[in-house]
Amino acid sequence: MASIFSRIVAGEIPCYKVAEDANNFAFLDINPVAKGHVLVIPKHEVDYLFDLSDEEYASLTLFAKRVAAALKKAIPCVKVGEAVLGLEVPHAHIHLIPINKESDMNFFKEKLQLPAEEMMQIAESIAANFQ
Ligand code: 5GP
Repeated sequence: MASIFSRIVAGEIPCYKVAEDANNFAFLDINPVAKGHVLVIPKHEVDYLFDLSDEEYASLTLFAKRVAAALKKAIPCVKVGEAVLGLEVPHAHIHLIPINKESDMNFFKEKLQLPAEEMMQIAESIAANFQ
């Protein structure tokens, strides 16, 4: 069965899309730890990030770099933090999170619940800055 992220890429499940290229896709995390929390995934469904081929891994990393640049413009922050966990959804993904202090990357704190309108605005703002 396709992963929930493959179903998002296929358009079967809605998401707040941020960017896409031939091999990769980026969208807002539905339970953000900070405003602008983005997930970057390869379209090819592989569970473990380090099982991607060298080409897929390089493509994903370079795509994430472009998304991070757009994210930093859309959500001014000291840096964009990057994390890989992957214990919940078995489809490789990189978390990109705007951070101003270390605790902004804390995955254990209560997640934000942002109105749909705000999620849409955040996604549109990142998309508008994506190059
Ligand atoms: P991880 O596998 O890295 O531990 O966490 C998976 C992440 O995917 C979580 O931050 C969770 O909020 C996010 N997530 C899980 N299901 C969905 C979904 O259906 N849509 C979106 N946008 N994010 C999801």
